[in-house]
Amino acid sequence: MHYSRISVCLVWCLIGVSLVGGMAGCEDPVADLPATPTSTGMTMIQLANLLSMTLSESDANRAVLVGGANRVVIRRTPLPRVFVNGQRVVAAGAISDRNGMLTVGFALSDAIRETLPKESAMTDPWVSISDKPTQPLVVLDPAHGGVDAGSVAPGLWMEKQVTLAIAMEAAKLLRTKQVDVLLTRNGDVYRSINTRGEWIRARQPALVVTLHTNMGTAGGAVYYPRRCDDDSPSYFLAANLAKRLGHTSAARVNDPAQHTYHGTLIEKVSPAAALIDLGSSRDEADATRLGSSQGKLAAAKAITDAIAAYLAADDNL
Ligand SMILES: [Zn+2]
Repeated sequence: MHYSRISVCLVWCLIGVSLVGGMAGCEDPVADLPATPTSTGMTMIQLANLLSMTLSESDANRAVLVGGANRVVIRRTPLPRVFVNGQRVVAAGAISDRNGMLTVGFALSDAIRETLPKESAMTDPWVSISDKPTQPLVVLDPAHGGVDAGSVAPGLWMEKQVTLAIAMEAAKLLRTKQVDVLLTRNGDVYRSINTRGEWIRARQPALVVTLHTNMGTAGGAVYYPRRCDDDSPSYFLAANLAKRLGHTSAARVNDPAQHTYHGTLIEKVSPAAALIDLGSSRDEADATRLGSSQGKLAAAKAITDAIAAYLAADDNL
């Protein structure tokens, strides 16, 4: 049985693993976030994320990860085996079936990483709206994509579609305001958190906004990095977004403890960063709103206005 898209987002959004290192998102950075996997092994989507590879096949018995010229095959039956580019990897560590999802122990995931050639990387081009971005540069990050659908509103949409549609519309609107925008993807492709994070940091944007939906809380929310104070640039960005999206306030990314995993992206990518939760795939009103072109356009306009206000240093909240 293939893993469900919903359980992917559960793993994706709720398990905290810090993979993005480097620049702090606030003026008063604390130590790096702890790497705190909450289980005894990694799911295939986590492993793909760790290795910056794409999960091309996955069920409870077998998974195939690809990236550049590299190929990792993991199988549980008839005998547990791991192959990296055809070469068997021998290491302690179980390959198991956890609720229909193939998992590998941490020793084995480390051995796979060490066996892969160091230069393994994404080969897909990143796409910018502008050919020659100028500062201040805005990065919009439509979360999920490709094999990672995110949360699903049955019969209406998948999270990866909603985040991309709204990010592309907001990018178009920002360009009309002479703001340069880059997107972390402009199609249905999977890119890991640390690949996105490294790419964003290299471009030194003035601000980063990542877009999600959720499977629980109705109405949506806006989060800022957990280490940031409420007088930080990230807070003002998040508060601007919350105001214009109609949310009552901005909250730290771990309050409530949702989007913890994706929250690692906004911790360290730019001087100002925020995570928008656009609404719930399981709430009828949210699902309908985000499934409609008017709803998506309204969200894109709100995001555009908030970013423009933030860049104009309008802190009149
Ligand atoms: Zn998400």
